[in-house]
Amino acid sequence: MDALPLAPQSQAVAKPAIPPAFFGETVTWVHHWTESQFSFRCTRDPALRFVAGQFAMIGLVVDGKPLVRAYSMVSPPWDEELEFLSIKVANGPLTSRLQHIKVGDTVLIGKKPTGTLLTENLLPGRTLWMVSTGTGLAPFMSLIREPDVYEKYERVVLMHGVREVKELAYHDYIERELPEHEFLGEMLRGKLLYYPSVTREAFRTQGRVTTLLESGQVCRDLGLAALSPEQDRVMLCGSEAMNADVKALLEARGFTEGSNSEPGTYVLEKAFVTK
Ligand SMILES: Cc1cc2nc3c(=O)[nH]c(=O)nc-3n(C[C@H](O)[C@H](O)[C@H](O)COP(=O)(O)OP(=O)(O)OC[C@H]3O[C@@H](n4cnc5c(N)ncnc54)[C@H](O)[C@@H]3O)c2cc1C
Repeated sequence: MDALPLAPQSQAVAKPAIPPAFFGETVTWVHHWTESQFSFRCTRDPALRFVAGQFAMIGLVVDGKPLVRAYSMVSPPWDEELEFLSIKVANGPLTSRLQHIKVGDTVLIGKKPTGTLLTENLLPGRTLWMVSTGTGLAPFMSLIREPDVYEKYERVVLMHGVREVKELAYHDYIERELPEHEFLGEMLRGKLLYYPSVTREAFRTQGRVTTLLESGQVCRDLGLAALSPEQDRVMLCGSEAMNADVKALLEARGFTEGSNSEPGTYVLEKAFVTK
């Protein structure tokens, strides 16, 4: 009898061992917005539960060890996959590597999402403001696709401040695709008010998020009454400077900070920590 042909040598790249606190997920899509920002999607273990607005520790196995950072989920809790929006820091331990991921690669997803940007940390109100700069948009991408948000609030305002127009990640999706979305479109049409702003280029709305709030420009542009703790609820996610400035502005108007232990009229989370 002829010898059985030898099995072809496996071409597959060995998958890294996954530490127990993480799920090992497979990258399914990568999109580079600019030289400093990209998004990616990956598979999602059905056991991973999270609430819109939360973040998880995510990353890569490097030299046999997990190298992870906090990342807000961009995708809503009902999505079968997970999506993230990431900065590319040139010498950043994680993002100098993460920016090179490709479809099929393995990423680590922490099993315990957490965070304060939750509607349950806010007292009931009429208008929910989501105020972000840069990648601080990420948790709000999840929240604007969470049906519960539209049941709780009459209106949802999404502010996103960036330096250049090209940094307005998800701009076309929010403005064009979302209102036509087969399940969400009807719910959010007329209720979701998107307010992108740019500081270093000509754009229809120019200026820093803080200035636009302080001067009342954003309220005038959207036809809304001035921010008040009686009817408005605010979520902040940006640089430490933006968070501090808007926090001071809100507190001067009588807003109180909410937390996982006690709801308030605003909540905040850092979009990143400056070392
Ligand atoms: C609660 C929380 C949620 C976060 N969610 C996200 C997210 O959804 N997307 C995301 O890209 N990052 C997010 N970050 C930042 C993230 O955890 C990492 O800092 C980032 O991925 C860079 O990792 P690194 O190891 O390459 O560099 P690091 O050593 O972590 O950072 C180096 C420096 O880069 C700058 N930097 C880091 N992250 C950012 C950023 N996002 N925007 C602008 N400058 C930054 C800071 O000055 C920092 O000191 C979040 C941070 C926190 C605390």
